[in-house]
Amino acid sequence: MESSSNGGHGNTTLYIVGAILLAVATAIIGPAVLGESVRPAVEVLDVGGEIFLRLLQMVVVPLVMASVMSGILGLGDVRKLGRPGAYAVSYYLCTTVLAVVTGLIVVNIVNPGRGIDPVLVEDARQEGEQTLAHVADRRQGRRIEWHNVTGDRAAAAGSSKNAAVPEEGVWSVRVAIDQVGEADTAAEARVLWSHDGDVFEEAPDGLFKAGLEPGVYTTSPVVPIPEGAEFVRLDFTPQDGGERSVVEAYLVAGAPSIGDIFKNLVLMLFTNNLLASMVEINLLPLIVFSIAFGAMLTTLGPRADTISELVLSINDALMSFILLLMRLAPLGIFCLVAARFAHAQLDGQFLTLLKTQAWYMTSVLVGLGIHALVTLPLLLWFFTRRNPWTYLRQMSQAVLTAFSTASSTATLPVTMECAETKAGVSRRSTEFVLPLGATINMDGTALYEAAAAIFIAQAYALVDPAFVLTFDKQVVIAVTATLAAIGAAGIPEAGLVTMLIVLNAVGLPLELIGLILPIDWLLDRFRTAVNTFGDSVGAAIVDKGFPPDNGAAAA
Ligand code: ASP
Repeated sequence: MESSSNGGHGNTTLYIVGAILLAVATAIIGPAVLGESVRPAVEVLDVGGEIFLRLLQMVVVPLVMASVMSGILGLGDVRKLGRPGAYAVSYYLCTTVLAVVTGLIVVNIVNPGRGIDPVLVEDARQEGEQTLAHVADRRQGRRIEWHNVTGDRAAAAGSSKNAAVPEEGVWSVRVAIDQVGEADTAAEARVLWSHDGDVFEEAPDGLFKAGLEPGVYTTSPVVPIPEGAEFVRLDFTPQDGGERSVVEAYLVAGAPSIGDIFKNLVLMLFTNNLLASMVEINLLPLIVFSIAFGAMLTTLGPRADTISELVLSINDALMSFILLLMRLAPLGIFCLVAARFAHAQLDGQFLTLLKTQAWYMTSVLVGLGIHALVTLPLLLWFFTRRNPWTYLRQMSQAVLTAFSTASSTATLPVTMECAETKAGVSRRSTEFVLPLGATINMDGTALYEAAAAIFIAQAYALVDPAFVLTFDKQVVIAVTATLAAIGAAGIPEAGLVTMLIVLNAVGLPLELIGLILPIDWLLDRFRTAVNTFGDSVGAAIVDKGFPPDNGAAAA
């Protein structure tokens, strides 16, 4: 394993920075000069970027499992993980809260929602509504809407993940069939309810005909939502005998309580199907399994020697593979960044967006800047006496890869490589702390969720004077943004999805994500870079909590 502080590729960082700058310039100038004719070239760049991304993602699952297991084998006893584990979780929680507070302070000072044109808010709302509906069931062109019995629209359009149903009143199901999807065929639909997401019961009188034309179809008589129902499923059987299709919506009775959010976070630790978690790159249960499996290996004595050797060798081989991948990084990153920026430029939104969303972007970027360049460096220096600037340089390839991929999970292999070989963080720390961090520690996401929710609230207050952004609501936003960030996956724009929890918690219309949607892909890159840097600062700090290496470590 290479261990020089330059990693032998001291120039790689420079090449990556050059690649990003060149990519942005090419993406802005190319379409401006050559117009639509650059599209085929952009498609090629897309493929190049996707290949690099897939190569990184390909390594993540085996790397996390092998490294966590070999970390346990190195410690020799899983109980030694107790103290550093507690340090890691405390560090993650504290820095996430600090990030949220920074976001709240900055967005309250800059107040980006204040000057926004109410027409823009209405447009954004329509766009957001469409997006939510599209999420609902793009394939079938069907979405679920909630109407109360008098026919007024409910507070939010349903989506397959999040259909907000106000707590009071009698609500019925209707189905709005729009023209989003491919061919619709007239169908007979059944309404089914579920209380636990698994077993569905058919509603009496829940049968209705859905026609070919876009429109709203309703059950007759009205099917009230039974108390305690969690899911609704609409089961369509086309009258021409075609394939059955199903649309499901999760019912949120008002805002989910903090208890519900906690419950989901705890359940995220466990899986009933290890392979499914691998397929979905769902790292948290894989980490739990790997700790348990590694711990069992340490109790088996010499009988486990072969498999222990195997785990250590897999880990070493994967780390060497990542070193190789990093040589491709400048090219891969050029493709990723150029393709994404060129798409935005070709859609004609990029420079316009920079203008209309300038204050919102400024708030998020200033907040992220303060967290990454002031808070985290101070913590690093205070706890480790490391020079923060040097540390940032050592981690720069990971931070730049995070910016380019917008995925802290995909970046994880690079983060581990940089932390260990360039920054000299002990292997035992990188093996545990970084996989856990890439999964649950999202400082940038938390800061963004808080700032974006306040921005949306400020803008909404302009069109609905009944909505007042009170201090209590800001506290609710702070708490839910922290939890939502912990629950967000380390994949592109995951924060936008968990953002719905935050909006829901303070009664903001979910469609208003339309306000932040167009610029999200860009801000996502900055917050992912901060997420990754936050993880690596955590690894250096928690390193101190590990027992001294007595030579048993896997190395
Ligand atoms: N893209 C972020 C990450 O991977 C998550 C998010 O904020 O959307 O860390």
